[in-house]
Amino acid sequence: MPFSKLGLSDPILRAITELGYSQPTPIQEKAIPVILKGKNLLAGAQTGTGKTASFVLPILQMFADMPKIRAKRVRALILTPTRELAVQVEDNISKYAKYLPLTSMAMYGGVDAAPQKQRLIEGVDILVATPGRLLDMYTQRAIHFDEISVLVLDEADRMLDMGFIEDINKIIERLPTERQNLLFSATLSKQVRFLAKTAVENPVEIEI
Ligand code: AMP
Repeated sequence: MPFSKLGLSDPILRAITELGYSQPTPIQEKAIPVILKGKNLLAGAQTGTGKTASFVLPILQMFADMPKIRAKRVRALILTPTRELAVQVEDNISKYAKYLPLTSMAMYGGVDAAPQKQRLIEGVDILVATPGRLLDMYTQRAIHFDEISVLVLDEADRMLDMGFIEDINKIIERLPTERQNLLFSATLSKQVRFLAKTAVENPVEIEI
């Protein structure tokens, strides 16, 4: 199936064509239509399967179609276990959003928070963050959660292995209750399913 049949519009199709993507991967073919319908998703997919584009492309599509209410506030939050993954995911977002007026940022600890705060003030649509730094920023009132309509937990099993469960729960408690939730994990272990129970209501489940 070509990308154009998945419900993605021209600016996105142009960007991915330029990147040399000719066909969606299996996870993309399954996840993109589900996400575009606004459903919650529980996906078992390893790194290397194209999982990042499987959630980023439909998020871009939904936001391109939906006018912003408070223009500068974060609309999608993607939580990742590590700084490296946050940077890598954000790098992909900026490539896929090349022809869209949407902004993204990677936020992680171990570096000066001031430039990250400045970027938030300037406006970020899609934020990719590690849990600890995000909570710090929230505690300092440097970030508002009230416009977040999509939450992605990326590599959820690794986040649990790294002991982020409390931070993740604190973040989720502070998000608007009306939101779409997408959980990606290499394995859908008991622990991951337990997290999914609280974070991702009635999900469509995909395993590849
Ligand atoms: P990921 O599983 O998200 O880490 O993606 C693995 C690699 O596959 C990345 O380098 C992507 O740029 C690439 N990729 C993702 N989707 C496609 C696609 N449909 N066609 C070709 N390459 C892709």
